[in-house]
Amino acid sequence: MKFQTQRPESWQVCLACGHEMTELDPHPRCSACGGLLEIRHRPPQLTRAELIDRFTERRGQRPGASASGVWRFREIVLPSADEVVSHPEGNTPLLERFDGFFSRGSLEIVDVSSDVIERATELRAKHDFRAPDAVHLATALVVGADVFLTGDRTLKRCPDLDVQLLTGPHIAP
Ligand SMILES: [Zn+2]
Repeated sequence: MKFQTQRPESWQVCLACGHEMTELDPHPRCSACGGLLEIRHRPPQLTRAELIDRFTERRGQRPGASASGVWRFREIVLPSADEVVSHPEGNTPLLERFDGFFSRGSLEIVDVSSDVIERATELRAKHDFRAPDAVHLATALVVGADVFLTGDRTLKRCPDLDVQLLTGPHIAP
């Protein structure tokens, strides 16, 4: 198939046979011949200078997706994206988040003491937790944590600890 009318903003094209598919077609390969697909975009309506001005203006904009090292260039990355979800990517914002998290005054960092190791060994032996999980659980037990938050439901079987399951779009159940 080839688009007979004006092409949409983005579409997929088979590199082997030229078959064209819509942008959101879920097939991972060409539905006609099985070839590899490439995404193509209509050229932006803006001139080169206008595009560069726009990308430059967005640089460092915070908060929001425009600060992203990817979405700053959305006109040439994925022009059809209306509602962008972003960390934002690029520009190492994730490191800033880590720094922010670990510099909170309410945070207590617990050493892996011999008590922790002993408790972890016991948890692993009796309940067959993986070693890193056993260390995390044992640490919570040794410091007397009120609650243990995790995305891993298998940890709920830990005795003597209130293990709460976190769920959400970014956490596998
Ligand atoms: Zn094909």
